Amino acid sequence: MSLDRDNLSFILEGIKQVKFEDRPVPEIIDRHDVLVNVKYTGVCGSDVHYWEHGSIGQFVVREPMVLGHESSGIISQVGASVKTLKVGDRVALEPGIPCRRCEPCKSGKYNLCIDMAFAATPPYDGTLAKYYRLPEDFCYKLPETMSLQEGALMEPLGVAVHIVKQGGVTPGSSVVVFGSGPVGLLCCAVAKAFGASKIIAVDIQQTRLDFAKKYTATSTFMPDKVSSEENAIRMKEENDLGPGADVVIDASGAEPSVHTGIHVLKTGGTYVQGGMGRSEITFPIMAACTKELNVKGSFRYGSGDYKLGIELVSTGRIDVKALITGEVKFEDAENAIKDVKMGKGIKTLIAGI
Ligand SMILES: [Zn+2]
Ligand SMILES: [Zn+2]
Repeated sequence: MSLDRDNLSFILEGIKQVKFEDRPVPEIIDRHDVLVNVKYTGVCGSDVHYWEHGSIGQFVVREPMVLGHESSGIISQVGASVKTLKVGDRVALEPGIPCRRCEPCKSGKYNLCIDMAFAATPPYDGTLAKYYRLPEDFCYKLPETMSLQEGALMEPLGVAVHIVKQGGVTPGSSVVVFGSGPVGLLCCAVAKAFGASKIIAVDIQQTRLDFAKKYTATSTFMPDKVSSEENAIRMKEENDLGPGADVVIDASGAEPSVHTGIHVLKTGGTYVQGGMGRSEITFPIMAACTKELNVKGSFRYGSGDYKLGIELVSTGRIDVKALITGEVKFEDAENAIKDVKMGKGIKTLIAGI
């Protein structure tokens, strides 16, 4: 396949049907827009889910859609009013453009915008193309010390920063993180950077737990096939958690994790749902009520999350390189999706053109 085309894009047409197509190069529309030559894109569970099922919840792929949203790149064009970036700058892309006018936007929670245009969420095209257009304030210049590969990890790191902030993790906190995929691992890393003293990684795969322990978790926990209450009791005992953990983060979306998480929290503890699994599950509502738990959601990232992620990486407090376990050429994008589907490695990057 020749890559020598204007804006070659990796497109999902239908379930497990992809193609490469030369799309028009996006034009600078707003004076604050920039055009980015995309250099690296991480494969996300959501890309795999759209490829496999053609939808996520109410988001259904009805028209061919460019996949990808975890990207970094180089600025190739800037609008007339752009002041913070210039051609040649290396940037991490924050791939969701809020309306800036709705009530959540105006109250500062633009991640909850009611009219968000988010990359690779139908009907909006993603970043797996040669070029992608964004407003300048959604491109974050990478410090000299950071590579473009690390830049592509700022999207999942932004998700993790937002989750850990939602959890209110402070120095000395005990934190349990369910799920040791990329976001769960990054939550462990952010919790460590925030000063948590106990970080317990929970997963049902020993290889993932081994990695989590080597990475940033202070201990790991493999659930037994017993009740969630019994697993919670063993977790408290093994980790000397006394009355329970301060913060629980679910980055798995699995129902048993939610149950165990609620039971392992101390009274007044905070539970954050970060993982997306089935849309409805049973929930230990009595425990949540009588322990006066703070139960919160977490969705994407908001103001300051990318900035903090970049600072934590560029100052050496978080290592994202360790999570990059594969890199494929642009023309092999579908193989990268299949690898992630089969659970190969932790984070696979697709190189740009
Ligand atoms: Zn993602
Ligand atoms: Zn809005």
